[in-house]
Amino acid sequence: MKNRNNIEDYLLESYNKNLKDRKEETIFGNIPVYIIKDLPDHINLQAVLKRIEDLIPEHFVYGIDSIYVEHLKEFTSRSVNAVFKGGSIYVTNFQDNDADMFDDIVHEIAHSVEQLFKKQIYKDDAVKKEFLGKRKRLLDLLKQEGYTEYITAFNNANYSRAFDEYLHQTIGYSLLQTLTQGLFLSPYSITSLREYFAIGFEEYFMKDRDYLKRVSPQLYNKIELVAEL
Ligand SMILES: [Zn+2]
Repeated sequence: MKNRNNIEDYLLESYNKNLKDRKEETIFGNIPVYIIKDLPDHINLQAVLKRIEDLIPEHFVYGIDSIYVEHLKEFTSRSVNAVFKGGSIYVTNFQDNDADMFDDIVHEIAHSVEQLFKKQIYKDDAVKKEFLGKRKRLLDLLKQEGYTEYITAFNNANYSRAFDEYLHQTIGYSLLQTLTQGLFLSPYSITSLREYFAIGFEEYFMKDRDYLKRVSPQLYNKIELVAEL
């Protein structure tokens, strides 16, 4: 038994050592960024991380233990570039440019913020009502276009793969983009309340704050509220 434990200790130690060897960066001073798979040479990771530190309030990353750069299998099957799970952000190493990588990480920070400040964001239901009101408006527009499936799903704020595919593949993002100008920030933000929040968060910190205020005033208010905590 002792030997076995020793071996386990040794393996654990070498595993940790391995991770430590790979730990090339940190963000906000103490969150390790592990480069599990190499990034292309044209990506300047330090610049991406610095930009995030400059833009995002520090208390927004309290829910993040670590960042892993690697392409998870689920990224391909779900057509995504990053995920926030178990307190860590996983982001693909297949990046076209710094801006894309920056986008991916900010989007997942949004999901961690949403989880960390759930009570402050959702307790009065204002954001959910705003989101479902927009969904209802979209459903009316789609009915005029002849789309009459998944009617009850429009009133469900949670993620559903079938509904996601209905929006993305059956209706298509180009029609949704046209129909939802001034209603939703992007077709992806129609997917679920979580994505509605994350896309709004991206708009607030990376794009046009005033536009977010006009299109999604309740969401804007809540992001302001948690940013000032
Ligand atoms: Zn997301």
